[in-house]
Amino acid sequence: FGPFFVEDSPRVELGADLAARVADLVHGAADLAAYGARDRALAAAMDADARLSRLERGQARINAAALGLGMLTQGLTVVAVVLAAQASGLGRVATAVAALTSLVAFEPALPLAAAGERFAGVVAALRRLRETAATPPAVREPADPAPAPESPLTVEVEDLVVRHGGREPALNGVSLTLTPGRRVAVVGPSGAGKSTLLSALMRTVEIESGAIRLNGTDVRRLSSDDVRALVTGLTQDPYVFQATVGDNLRLAGPEASAEDVVAAVRRARLDAWAERTGWDTVLGEDGRTVSGGQLQRLALARALLYDPPVLLLDEPAEALDEETADLLMADLLDATRGRTTLLVTHRLRGLEQVDEIVVLEGGRVTQRGAHADLVAVPGYYRDLWESEALTRHHG
Ligand code: ADP
Repeated sequence: FGPFFVEDSPRVELGADLAARVADLVHGAADLAAYGARDRALAAAMDADARLSRLERGQARINAAALGLGMLTQGLTVVAVVLAAQASGLGRVATAVAALTSLVAFEPALPLAAAGERFAGVVAALRRLRETAATPPAVREPADPAPAPESPLTVEVEDLVVRHGGREPALNGVSLTLTPGRRVAVVGPSGAGKSTLLSALMRTVEIESGAIRLNGTDVRRLSSDDVRALVTGLTQDPYVFQATVGDNLRLAGPEASAEDVVAAVRRARLDAWAERTGWDTVLGEDGRTVSGGQLQRLALARALLYDPPVLLLDEPAEALDEETADLLMADLLDATRGRTTLLVTHRLRGLEQVDEIVVLEGGRVTQRGAHADLVAVPGYYRDLWESEALTRHHG
């Protein structure tokens, strides 16, 4: 039992737990932010870190010399940075970023060989996070935010212009209205500005001109956290956290009752899978990864459980094979009936169920209307509809 044979020691287990939680924070940042769950995830990471530090102290005499003080130093540094950042009044998210960035500084001291590949992944993720941390905040927060509007919400997008950098605007005069209970689909070729529209709605990209209003209140007068508590949903790359099936679902609603969880899972048609896998099975570990279709259903169940006043769905069928995508879209359209929803999609099948379809091309709305209206006239929508029908018959 040499100094580097530590795979079975609780230290490595805890180290891996911390690593997993840090990886969750980094990779799952979008989902955590979308559901206001970042603080809880950070707390879990800090807890793993504290347990690791305690263990380190106990075991120090046995193997610290052999392994180096990397993990210990690193753990204590994170705690120190968090305390310092909190004392200096940094925001909670900034504190998380500062803490995680401090880990990177100790990268050479990490016992990579002993703890395995997970750490390499974490280090890469942290590097990415450090880059993100260096970028300025995306939107200006109001000094004196207006009170958050209450559900049910009407979203008005008026003459919206959004520009990434100095080039052509990504959105150039887009208007649409989403009244309570209505569903609007946004379609259009890659680069048309669909994701930018969702980012503007979630206040992760600044508005150049025009406005987005929630029940008449301009989103620039609201705190961006308040906006994201109201207008949120399924992000483009939903992330499975290294947590149980149940916790992965409850990310969006830690206080949700067991009945609520089961209901959301049923509506997302994930119940059979959840039963088969087991609610207490930890996901995200080797051999327990979920398929693309199940991942989207998990994300859908998460979104349904959170039940935001305005539900955003970003390309839920992206990267799925045709059959899986068709089944998912059918269930998704079922589950969102009567729910205020903005659905970005590149697949037209099923869109006869939504109230309005908006076609974006080059940042502008080129067509809008119901499915039946749009297939009746020449244009992007009919072309795509016909090519979809063709691949269906021949593919
Ligand atoms: P879609 O979602 O329809 O594919 P996007 O909203 O992603 O379209 O992109 C719209 C335009 O804005 C594209 O020209 C794209 O290259 C550009 N764009 C999107 N995000 C960024 C960004 N972060 N920085 C610079 N340009 C961007």
